[in-house]
Amino acid sequence: MTKQPRNSEALENPFQAAGLSLGAPTTNPSKECDLCCKTTYRTLCRQDRHGNPLETAICDHCGLISHAKIPTEAELSDFYAHRYRKSYHGQAELSPRRIMRAWKKGQRVHGDLAKFLPRSTRLFEVGAGLGCTIKIFELDGFETSGIEPGRSFQNFAQEKILASVSSESLFDLPPIPQFDVILLIHVIEHFASPRRALKAIHQLLHPGGQLYVECPNVAGYFATPKRWFHYAHVHNFTPWTLTALAKECGFEVHQRWGNDESANLKYLLTRSSTPSQGIDVEELTKSGFEKTIEALKDRSFTAYHFRKSYLKERAKKLQRYLVEMTQAKRFVQSIVTMCQEVEANRVDPTPLPTPLRRAA
Ligand SMILES: [Zn+2]
Repeated sequence: MTKQPRNSEALENPFQAAGLSLGAPTTNPSKECDLCCKTTYRTLCRQDRHGNPLETAICDHCGLISHAKIPTEAELSDFYAHRYRKSYHGQAELSPRRIMRAWKKGQRVHGDLAKFLPRSTRLFEVGAGLGCTIKIFELDGFETSGIEPGRSFQNFAQEKILASVSSESLFDLPPIPQFDVILLIHVIEHFASPRRALKAIHQLLHPGGQLYVECPNVAGYFATPKRWFHYAHVHNFTPWTLTALAKECGFEVHQRWGNDESANLKYLLTRSSTPSQGIDVEELTKSGFEKTIEALKDRSFTAYHFRKSYLKERAKKLQRYLVEMTQAKRFVQSIVTMCQEVEANRVDPTPLPTPLRRAA
């Protein structure tokens, strides 16, 4: 299909309000778009949220936003081993506030999802963090396990709340169906290739199994434009780029939370029996670029701060901060004690499930 030529006047600087500028199309044959496999991009931004150099580009066909230079797996491993927690969360050490927030997030995810999932199903989390989310599902009767690269996070999960979290990489697990549900919460944007990750997950799920994916929505109000981009977020999704990629990798949307302007994308996807057969990727992604430009062009600093829900969000954040400051230490002690008591009183002392491993 031939693409319609775009009105260059209209594209001159659609991001003036956002303080960004859109570069001319340039082709980089060594960088294939992870969604549509094309190689023509436009620069969108040259700095990360801290003002450090980071070139972010938008695919000229499908509108997928990513780093102009995708890091290698080795570069990403080095980043996560040495710089991630400090650079992204502003702290290298685990604090009670952080643990309390992770537990509350787990409760929110469980509250949203549990009604769609039968108990006793095998649930697995990629990027399980502190293990709080899988622990909450486990306490509700699910068989749970997860993987997490951060050593201090694994230690907390294994030693304090006794959640089954190990250090394997998603790509090292044997590609056979072994789970009914997989959680991918604020993780897909960190992969060098989200397509590769979704295909690996497709192989790990039983037919009809489900994937819950949650990530920031670059088309929504998740931050002011100056704070959009970060080295850890290799790809920045919109509702249409995420669902197109999911479809290509063999998933259908089962349930969605929020809308196109929500700060985060939240989808429960169902694994179809065959991945991506007969899908016309060009057709599936054809208006993605225009749609993304249209969505991003009004996302200015002013628009972010003067929208209806802003004050409500700030008040909620302040309230959460005050609760965390005054209660986090006691809260963490109580969940650790509760998890250890539950484990001590388990009638069936069989070990918690772990993912199957590749044969040596
Ligand atoms: Zn593309």
